[in-house]
Amino acid sequence: AVQLPLPPTTRIFTVANQKGGVGKTTTTVNLAAALALGGSRVLVIDLDPQGNASTALGVDHRAETPSVYDVIIDDEPMTEIVQKSPEFDGLYCLPSTIHLAGAEIELVSMVAREQRLRTSLLRFLNETPEQFHYVFIDCPPSLGLLTINAFVAASEVLIPIQCEYYALEGLSQLLNNISLIERHLNPTLTVSTILLTMFDSRTNLANQVAQDVRDHFPDQVLPTPIPRSVRISEAPSYGQTVISYDTNSAGSLSYREAAAEIARRGAPN
Ligand code: ADP
Ligand code: MG
Repeated sequence: AVQLPLPPTTRIFTVANQKGGVGKTTTTVNLAAALALGGSRVLVIDLDPQGNASTALGVDHRAETPSVYDVIIDDEPMTEIVQKSPEFDGLYCLPSTIHLAGAEIELVSMVAREQRLRTSLLRFLNETPEQFHYVFIDCPPSLGLLTINAFVAASEVLIPIQCEYYALEGLSQLLNNISLIERHLNPTLTVSTILLTMFDSRTNLANQVAQDVRDHFPDQVLPTPIPRSVRISEAPSYGQTVISYDTNSAGSLSYREAAAEIARRGAPN
């Protein structure tokens, strides 16, 4: 595989959109796999109690598995809990289990409740002998304390957008929330990347929405949209990303191109 340029310091992305089903998890795991294939060391943090990212990466996340819950709620060191991808060198996952569903409530009464993931992640990144180049945090479809923890831990936000009628409405809400986080909790947070997902170039609506998003965010939108593809949606049921499941399919190639673009652009200043 083509080697991609490596960032000098760890780039930490939160993949966020409060809408469900827009491609957050699919984008997280496929970009992570594509970057790992390109020579980067990549960590995926599954912050959704559904555990879809853990499933797609083929890592164990049965209820009794040590998980991101133990990290956020019980201060367990991440080193003990992170699992290696069975398929890609350099790809790791901090799995989520169903216990995480309770964390949203448990966090409410905790000290520094918005900072818990950040503190654990920074400790892990400092202590781990080999440098990670990328961290991707896959968020649940809501703006609760888990998602806030993700925004506080990250330096960049990646927003997947499905090109449909309500997309822009949801986007302005999301951007308002992000600027609140920026003002009160994490001044260095930047929306660096927008990715058009499940794109169907044959429909006028998709093209119109894509054009609107590009007009509003010319610097953030990646040039390559991700097409709607059956191969992308089949891969998780085999515990795989499309990058390994069908490496030369259109879906795989588009995620690899998006990953290459992210690597070439580098972190925002
Ligand atoms: P989210 O994490 O935002 O809820 P997912 O990544 O789980 O969204 O995607 C929602 C559904 O759409 C899943 O069933 C996934 O397999 C499917 N999907 C995502 N991207 C594509 C695509 N490009 N083509 C076809 N199906 C897709
Ligand atoms: Mg998801």
